[in-house]
Amino acid sequence: MPDIRRAGLWHAMAESAGLTNPDGTIGETIYGQMTELAAQLGAVNLGQGAPGTEPPSELIDASTEAMRAGFNQYAPGQGFPQLLEAVAQQRERDFGQRVDPAEVLYTAGATEGLTAAILALLPRGRSLVAFEPFYDSYPAAVTAAGGSLHTVPILPDGYGGFTPDWDLFDRVVGEVDPAIILVNTPHNPTGCIFSADDLAHIGRAAEAADAWVLSDEVYEQLVLTEQAHIPPAVAIEDAARVVTVSSAGKSWNATGWKIGWVIAPPEVREAIQAVKQFLTFTAGGPMQIGMATMLTSDSRFVEENRASLAARAEVLVPACRTVPGAIVSTPQAGYFTVMDFSALTDLDAFALNDLLAREFSLVGIPVPALCRPGSPAYSAYRSSIRYSFCKSVADVDKGAQQFIALGSHLRQYPEALKLRS
Ligand code: PMP
Ligand code: GLN
Repeated sequence: MPDIRRAGLWHAMAESAGLTNPDGTIGETIYGQMTELAAQLGAVNLGQGAPGTEPPSELIDASTEAMRAGFNQYAPGQGFPQLLEAVAQQRERDFGQRVDPAEVLYTAGATEGLTAAILALLPRGRSLVAFEPFYDSYPAAVTAAGGSLHTVPILPDGYGGFTPDWDLFDRVVGEVDPAIILVNTPHNPTGCIFSADDLAHIGRAAEAADAWVLSDEVYEQLVLTEQAHIPPAVAIEDAARVVTVSSAGKSWNATGWKIGWVIAPPEVREAIQAVKQFLTFTAGGPMQIGMATMLTSDSRFVEENRASLAARAEVLVPACRTVPGAIVSTPQAGYFTVMDFSALTDLDAFALNDLLAREFSLVGIPVPALCRPGSPAYSAYRSSIRYSFCKSVADVDKGAQQFIALGSHLRQYPEALKLRS
């Protein structure tokens, strides 16, 4: 057979995401690895951000009806007009962002939207600046575009909160002259919500560098505190340089449907579509129609889902806090809490996660897996693990009981499990 290594892009993409093994083989994503580990051990899976609760039945009914009504062949490349119109309406209703349907592009989840936008808008050899930790698709997409990724840490404050390092942000942007600044708000995994001032800061930096602002807003509906989610396209004065990416997966418990969208000025949307149409052309026709119905309905599902997530966080987070010495984040938004074990162990998050999986039936995502080896964020999160509370009530309860058991075990045997070497 031809030499698989003679074309290097697939390997470079995996390598940039930290997925290559020492022997050159490629590993699963951290989400896949942790799902498998939990299944193997029968441990509570608080890893991948895949909800343990179902989508609203109205959404399933509307999509089923769309199938019965004949929406079963290719949708137009831009997406069904019903969805484009519905996204425009939803952005204005929920966030005051004026959107014309001509600016909206359906994508197979936010992942395809982000990758297509990066491929379309990052010139070969130029830089993209993102905050770290980050979603694992970013470095792979930058590599595919032939660009380079530079990161700015969102650092723990030692009390369960997080702040982006703005001095470093200014320095990095000044040094690398990025073509794209990527911001994920609310942020995975910290739950950090960027304020209007933060976003204006990013906007000014983008203007000075003449960069695009690529905004990943998949947790837009899942703010658990009083602070509002503000889309960068609303906060940034020169909104024409903002490309917004979002999806239905997280807000409607339908991560497997891969219904996402990109919003950008029509000529920018067309450029992104020019890339996207040769990745999937189009997907999820009936679900596009179902989502259009959902986005424009007066359903209270998102509100209820948010309340239910907050209730599950209320179960998990206090249980995590019973572990003596651990610093546990108070999630402002999203699906996750971040637990810093550095005061009670020398183990890194990978080894610790493995040990907690085996001994305490608890599986999370080691936060360094969402960082670049050697970076300040990688060191800051060296012994931090992300736990998802979007799982079923039963799993969150089980997870909470395991943390309480871990806490009491450690109070009795502070040297237990050789957490400190
Ligand atoms: N961005 C972030 C920050 C995420 O956590 C995720 C995972 N859901 C995505 C993008 C990808 O979203 P989708 O499943 O819609 O592709
Ligand atoms: N975004 C999800 C998370 O952070 C995972 C998505 C995936 O598995 N690619 O858990």
